[in-house]
Amino acid sequence: MPKPLLAGNWKLHCLSAEAAALAGEIAKGCEDLQDRQVMVAPTFTSLAAVAGVLRGSKVALGAQDVYWEDTGAFTGEVSAPMLVDAGCSFVIVGHSERREYFEETDYTVAKKIAASYRSGLSQILCVGETLDQREAGETMKVIEKQLRHGIVELPAPGLESLVVAYEPVWAIGTGRTATPEQAEEVHARLREILCTLMDPDKADAVRILYGGSVKPDNVDELMACPNVNGALVGGASLKPDDFLRIVHYEES
Ligand code: PEP
Repeated sequence: MPKPLLAGNWKLHCLSAEAAALAGEIAKGCEDLQDRQVMVAPTFTSLAAVAGVLRGSKVALGAQDVYWEDTGAFTGEVSAPMLVDAGCSFVIVGHSERREYFEETDYTVAKKIAASYRSGLSQILCVGETLDQREAGETMKVIEKQLRHGIVELPAPGLESLVVAYEPVWAIGTGRTATPEQAEEVHARLREILCTLMDPDKADAVRILYGGSVKPDNVDELMACPNVNGALVGGASLKPDDFLRIVHYEES
């Protein structure tokens, strides 16, 4: 079984002092953790402050996006080596908000995934269908395309550091969570696809996170699903008590 990963996506929230305080509370509440990994992803401008707080703790630092060139005339972008320099070990790529509002495509996702791997970052590749796609019966087709196209530039060994996050768009920030059965059905299919791309033992070790309104009162049942290896948490990761309860989910 892969070590579960509980990841917080802070989106466009918190000035750096607030982010540092939030990170401090989370790090303190994670001191006892042995069997699971925790990551938080603040905004770029808070990375340095949060890295300072998390140094020596059990909580890893991640970024919410990355550009695929290392350096150059790309005003406004932040590269993978810069994220490593800032203390990151993870990066979220292809979040549905970036696909919806910032013209992220499978093509740009693939470039970002490969660049992150080259710099030694663990990449969290987000996939997920919209409500219209689910209602049209297209969920499996959509997630398969996003996964296969997202890794098209990733060298084979890179698959081992990949984390996949299944985030149904209709569940993000809506309070409407996928049922454990809905989540497990998609996670099992993602695992099957990974098995076609790599040695099945290695595919079993790839973490597939669920994201979409994960809260203290639904995390235990989601984490009980055999192919759910963690959670990507938005809103609840900004509330230390809620996030710490999620991190300390109860195993059944
Ligand atoms: C997310 O942004 O990745 C997310 C899952 O958000 P929320 O938990 O708020 O639905």
